Amino acid sequence: MAEQAFKGTLTLTTSQLKQKFLCCSGCSNEYDDVENFARLLPCLHSLCNQCVHNLAKDGALPCPECEQKHEFKGDVASFPRDNTRQDLMDFVRVKLAPGAIICQSCRDTKQATFRCKNCSEFLCEECHTAHRRTNITRGHEILELQSLQKKENLDAFCHQQMCPDHNRELELYCNKDDCQKPICFLCAMVTHKPDAGHDIQEIKKISEEKTEAMRKRIDDVNMTGREIKQIIENIGREVQSVRTLGKEVATEINNNFDHYIQTLEKRRDELKRDVDKYVQIKAGTLENQLRNLKQQQKRTNEAAEFADQTLLYNNPPAFLQIQGTVVDRLDKLHNEWFDREPHEVATIGFSCKGLSQEFQNKVSSMAKVWSSNAYQPNTKITPKQNDAVQDETVTFLVVLCNYVGKPLTEDIGHLKATLTDPNGATVDVRVIQNGSEESRVTFVPFYAGSYKLDVSILDKPLGEHEFQVQPRDKPQGSNIDESQLDGATSTYI
Ligand SMILES: [Zn+2]
Ligand SMILES: [Zn+2]
Ligand SMILES: [Zn+2]
Ligand SMILES: [Zn+2]
Ligand SMILES: [Zn+2]
Ligand SMILES: [Zn+2]
Repeated sequence: MAEQAFKGTLTLTTSQLKQKFLCCSGCSNEYDDVENFARLLPCLHSLCNQCVHNLAKDGALPCPECEQKHEFKGDVASFPRDNTRQDLMDFVRVKLAPGAIICQSCRDTKQATFRCKNCSEFLCEECHTAHRRTNITRGHEILELQSLQKKENLDAFCHQQMCPDHNRELELYCNKDDCQKPICFLCAMVTHKPDAGHDIQEIKKISEEKTEAMRKRIDDVNMTGREIKQIIENIGREVQSVRTLGKEVATEINNNFDHYIQTLEKRRDELKRDVDKYVQIKAGTLENQLRNLKQQQKRTNEAAEFADQTLLYNNPPAFLQIQGTVVDRLDKLHNEWFDREPHEVATIGFSCKGLSQEFQNKVSSMAKVWSSNAYQPNTKITPKQNDAVQDETVTFLVVLCNYVGKPLTEDIGHLKATLTDPNGATVDVRVIQNGSEESRVTFVPFYAGSYKLDVSILDKPLGEHEFQVQPRDKPQGSNIDESQLDGATSTYI
């Protein structure tokens, strides 16, 4: 009989298995082996036969799980029936609810307690006894459900696959290119005759070959998976780098501007101190003047008051004794000079010379933040000369492009070119950017041999170019005539 290819140990829990493999992703019902058997879609998701029929429309079947649309020709039979689920279904049944399994032989409602491996059927006590009595089934391998429950893999649950045309075990395989399917003994005699070009093989041998081939492909796809994982990690790190670098650049901007802001603030304080100084000088002078005038005012008022008082006495001799002194004082005060004009007036101003609109315009356009979206695979490095010759200037044009291939026009301050000479020594070479799409790298190679030019931004490689430098005294090729040699010689003299 055919051996199940699956030998491995199951890694998922029983209920995960049920959820993942035994329930239709269209209607969520469990698959059965009658109407709602599983059909496998090219995306490796499954649908029950019913859902496949319901969802297929105009030659296309949308997968409810991944939304991929699968086109098909003819009828839905091109999505193969997946009989591997039957084994898993029985496995899960025995594991999860052995008490709910009913006998498949008498189709009564009797609880099953055995399973015949040869018939792939659950049996009740009575049918088990009958199985043992009947000649044809006497030798069948029958296991108790209790011992089946302890099984950790699907071997014991293998369903024998029968030929739909002849109801015989599918024990052979037709390996003819356009057949490629399991067949029964009768198929090989009737529809897949070897003398009609059919290639009949042992199913076990083919299964082993195909298992081996699938293992190899699993390894391959796992390798792809590991590569994707690696790339995801790399890109994740790049996201981190972008954020970190952004913070660093912001700090750099802060440091630079802090310095200028401090300078500006210092100047503002100086100017305000100047204002204070002028105010103090002016106010001080004026207050001084006020103090003198107030003293003069006081003296004047006192004298007038005293004189008024003097006139109140009705004592002529006494009056006359002092009137001379009083009048002298009044005259003196009346004629005394006093400050009429303020020594200072309110004349302080602010001249914004040097802090003009021009300066503000400069500030609003000073410095800049750049960001390169150069995409390495799109970098083009082209030599300007046909042959690079030792001791002669060579020039390369570098065109950086973004992910969709559009050349970058912005100057990038940190574009760096590094040259590796034939001795393995590296040296940075000048990159000239003139605002156009291409940058130029120019240098003079001192040696003949293999050179490599690397272009990078902030140590991120953006492209490389390898080239040969010809020795100056031995131009390549024997077909170069004398005049060309002369020409070549004269260029470096
Ligand atoms: Zn369904
Ligand atoms: Zn799918
Ligand atoms: Zn029974
Ligand atoms: Zn049996
Ligand atoms: Zn057959
Ligand atoms: Zn065939």
